[in-house]
Amino acid sequence: MTAPSSDKQAADEQRVLDSVPNGLLIDGRWRPAASGRTVRVEDPATGESLIEVADGAAADALDALDAAHRAQPGWAATPPRERGEILRRAFEALTANAGDLALLMTLEMGKPVAESRAEITYAAEFFRWYSEEAVRIAGDYRVAPAGGSRLLVTRQPVGPCLFITPWNFPMAMGTRKIGPAVAAGCTMVLKPATLTPLSSLALAQILIDAGLPDGVLNVVTTSAAGGTTGPLIADPRLRKLSFTGSTEVGKRLIGAAAEQVLRVSMELGGNAPFLVFADADLDQAVEGAMLAKMRNGGEACTSANRFYVQRQVADDFANRLAQRMGSLRMGRGTEEGVTVGPLIDDDQRAKVAHLVDDAKAKGARVLCGGGAPSGPGYFFEPTVLSEVPDDAELLREEIFGPVAPIVAFDTEENAVDAANATEYGLVAYAYTTDLDRAVRVAEGIKAGMVGLNQGVVSNPAAPFGGVKQSGFGREGGREGIEEYLDVKYIAIKAGF
Ligand code: NAP
Repeated sequence: MTAPSSDKQAADEQRVLDSVPNGLLIDGRWRPAASGRTVRVEDPATGESLIEVADGAAADALDALDAAHRAQPGWAATPPRERGEILRRAFEALTANAGDLALLMTLEMGKPVAESRAEITYAAEFFRWYSEEAVRIAGDYRVAPAGGSRLLVTRQPVGPCLFITPWNFPMAMGTRKIGPAVAAGCTMVLKPATLTPLSSLALAQILIDAGLPDGVLNVVTTSAAGGTTGPLIADPRLRKLSFTGSTEVGKRLIGAAAEQVLRVSMELGGNAPFLVFADADLDQAVEGAMLAKMRNGGEACTSANRFYVQRQVADDFANRLAQRMGSLRMGRGTEEGVTVGPLIDDDQRAKVAHLVDDAKAKGARVLCGGGAPSGPGYFFEPTVLSEVPDDAELLREEIFGPVAPIVAFDTEENAVDAANATEYGLVAYAYTTDLDRAVRVAEGIKAGMVGLNQGVVSNPAAPFGGVKQSGFGREGGREGIEEYLDVKYIAIKAGF
């Protein structure tokens, strides 16, 4: 699980690391932080350093906002077709370079290269989708009910945006904000996660090469997230904040954004329930559970966090899931055949270990895994727990790791009540072959998204987002571009 497995592999890794810009992108130019400071990026599979990137601070971020503010009028006036074609070229470059970009992502984030590749495809699709939406920003023309006036309704770009993204999907969390913002005619400052800045830096270079004008996208890496972004959020030139990350940080940012009454989108944490009814096709349910649980090693906001299985099939489902989870191969994500990488860092691993220990102490049964292996890197074994008691912390907290807790239920009502017993509401999954039940459950669950007999809901053409403390605003689909547009109504006196 440690070093690169061959000289060729080591050379490939060095080549992709050498190709990444490691400065701040401000007004179309890469430059060091004003302080000259840098911050270390490490490989979570080994704990070793990969590279250093610029460690920006508030002064750098304000330079970035200056650039975004200066570029805004020209960018808003750029023909939508031109904006769309830049996205289209960037989509093509992402696709053409998917192999190297996937390797880069695996180095900084840890997931197996095949999963990183899937993320590059997913990320690129946001650019393709919004390259097509750029030319479909609609308005309309209405007749006032009382006559005399005509009502012209049009949409204009919101203005300069700040994007703050997490480490778990280092490329896609950027493209699903940048894509619609570029299409809508907004300029932006991106602050990627400190743990995984490299994919964002590579993405920015791709957008420059695709013809994005200077100042439209600025990127500030920093180890001091709050101190660096705070002055931007307080600056009246900023008009929009879009954040993906934890509910805890999101709440603080919503408060800060109130000062300038910013447009705000919040993609926050989840606690997804996964319901399996006795009438479900169990093979499909286990397959879906593997996807819903193990995509990104469980480090996804959409990850199935709690499995509620109808009592008649609970043992069968648990044993089959344990068999599948137990046969996954853990290791450095660059290695052939590896299906689970490390967690992102030691804090995350300690949190997962604590949640598993708490459930075990309260009576949960370990069907597979249950602990962290020895050796370097932040690995945790794929784990299935059955007979998990109601008071186990992991039924309430986002686990963010490869752990599947299973609870048996008796009636549909019990299952829906349990699914809704959380402050989160991002996504839920339900497996049943009864159409009436499927509709009742999908409508009864309080979540922004529901997967019916399907373990993955993410799709660039669909509106991704949550309710309750999972946030507000939508990314993807036709809805995604609306987050970057202000509606303007022009009243026209019509005297004829
Ligand atoms: P996080 O700790 O909230 O960090 C997210 C981003 O916010 C990072 O860039 C972080 O910078 C920055 N940040 C932290 N404190 C800040 C502050 N005071 N002011 C401004 N920015 C601040 O979350 P995470 O651990 O990276 O990501 C995991 C969380 O993201 C999970 O809860 C997951 O559910 C959620 N998530 C949600 C979605 C969704 O679409 N709903 C998608 C993916 C992930 P640093 O990196 O420097 O700390």
